[in-house]
Amino acid sequence: MGRGVLLVISGPSGAGKGTLSRLLLSKQKQLKLSISATTRPPRCGEIHGEHYYFLGKDDFEQQIEENNFLEYAQVYDNYYGTPLKPVEESLSNGQDVLLEIDIQGALQVKGRYPEAALIFIAPPSLDELAKRIYGRGTDSPEVIEKRLSLASAELEFIDKYDYCVINDDAEWATARLQAILEAEKSRVYRK
Ligand code: 5GP
Repeated sequence: MGRGVLLVISGPSGAGKGTLSRLLLSKQKQLKLSISATTRPPRCGEIHGEHYYFLGKDDFEQQIEENNFLEYAQVYDNYYGTPLKPVEESLSNGQDVLLEIDIQGALQVKGRYPEAALIFIAPPSLDELAKRIYGRGTDSPEVIEKRLSLASAELEFIDKYDYCVINDDAEWATARLQAILEAEKSRVYRK
């Protein structure tokens, strides 16, 4: 059995990465979502071990020391990281893995796994992005402003990615993600 495919999805907050990931996972049952660790406090309804592993800062820094992360980054003043072991185990067992992580993390993954498929999820426009983030109502105005200014900086990084999927319509965007996964599973690697 060959190695699994590593899909990495990122893009600005509010572009709809979470929704598209959930839709993709519901259609591709063999695809496994990697659960990240973070020092961010849980939001209402978030469950430890399901949405994230919520760790204290000391604990997170110890995991960094012990090289337990495939990648990690500081995003909005908190640490976020992908636990290495479960991802490596799944890929070696031929299972496809999905990471939903920020741009700094995605670039680290590409350095370590050049065969990873990096997919940038873009909003149809920055105006539409602002509408979505305000509409979500989960963050304070200061956090929203931070997210919006980071979003326009992040759009500059599209050319570091292998694919860009514009999330104009969730069903269509998910169909494009499925097509990318199928293409990646058929890829021939030259020696
Ligand atoms: P949120 O706090 O809204 O759940 O996530 C904030 C940002 O952190 C999002 O862009 C999300 O993709 C990113 N993120 C989540 N998990 C990880 C991770 O393991 N590593 C990195 N580098 N970013 C992550």
